[in-house]
Amino acid sequence: MKEIDWSNLSFAYIKTDYNVRIYYRNGQWGEQEICSEETIPMHMAAACLHYGQEAFEGLKAFRGKDGKIRIFRLEENAARLQSTCRGIMMPELSTEMFREAVIKAVKLNERFIPPYESGASLYIRPLLIGTTAQVGVKPATEYLFVVFVTPVGPYFKGGFAATPYLITRKYDRSAPLGTGIYKVGGNYAASLRAGHEAHSAGYSAEFYLDAKEKKYIDECGAANFFGIKNNTYVTPLSTSILPSITNKSLMQLAEDMGMKVERRPIPEEELSTFEEAGACGTAAVISPILRIDDPENNHSYILAKDGKPGPICTKLYNKLRAIQYGDEPDTYGWVTVFE
Ligand SMILES: *Cc1c(COP(=O)(O)O)cnc(C)c1O
Repeated sequence: MKEIDWSNLSFAYIKTDYNVRIYYRNGQWGEQEICSEETIPMHMAAACLHYGQEAFEGLKAFRGKDGKIRIFRLEENAARLQSTCRGIMMPELSTEMFREAVIKAVKLNERFIPPYESGASLYIRPLLIGTTAQVGVKPATEYLFVVFVTPVGPYFKGGFAATPYLITRKYDRSAPLGTGIYKVGGNYAASLRAGHEAHSAGYSAEFYLDAKEKKYIDECGAANFFGIKNNTYVTPLSTSILPSITNKSLMQLAEDMGMKVERRPIPEEELSTFEEAGACGTAAVISPILRIDDPENNHSYILAKDGKPGPICTKLYNKLRAIQYGDEPDTYGWVTVFE
């Protein structure tokens, strides 16, 4: 293999040695198969290609200072995939099958796990697609589950930094009773135009308000939002937000730090009351928010007063990263560790 420059990895696909596949046929899941092919042979009428019967997950494995490998909260990802399966009528994989496939994919590609010092990690992408050839709109009867991995760099190349977001009223990512709570590709397709417009205007990502009233905060691009004020961690409660495992973990850590945690609808105007705020997800853990611009109302909410990440965002970020890399004890059993 060509030498990988661990300290200069970005969030891009790099070929690794193996992926793990499981086929669903005749009403049941088959045995785990190890594969070195990067492509998926598929019928042109496959259900996933036409009607979006597709789900994915995203999690990471880290190499610790002790050389051990740690995967963060994989049971939570298994449970979320099961919820997505129920949401779009796909057969569920048991937590055990998910767990074994993920661990297998990581172990088989161990040489691609970046060294501790690089701050990089191994991104794990489980994918589930309906493969039955059909043109009628109905759930597929055959499915393929794949787990592949690829090394990715630390999200913050120039160090942990605060960046700006753009409120969009022109587009919705998902509907209140739609698929926003499921991790499906269709939600991403629906966000591409808003994302492109925000990026072109120099923002990190688009910022969504609730689709129904355009009154409450929804998601921050493809990340959850949280705000900090009066020693309280506040995050939106909404039926169109993807339940982020990072957010769930941060709520726990905030509570442990003696903060109050509130999950409730957050009206847009409340943005002006936060001392700090962040976008959270597996890719960056926390992406601190510099400001949120609302050009339609000619308003700008400043969320990092001196332009830098706030003390609580920084503390939460460092704490979660320390648990992931094994620098601090895993008191909640969040981490699967192996040699
Ligand atoms: C995956 C995802 C997140 C983040 O979830 P994590 O489990 O923290 O990685 C947030 N929003 C959307 C829309 C997502 O797809």
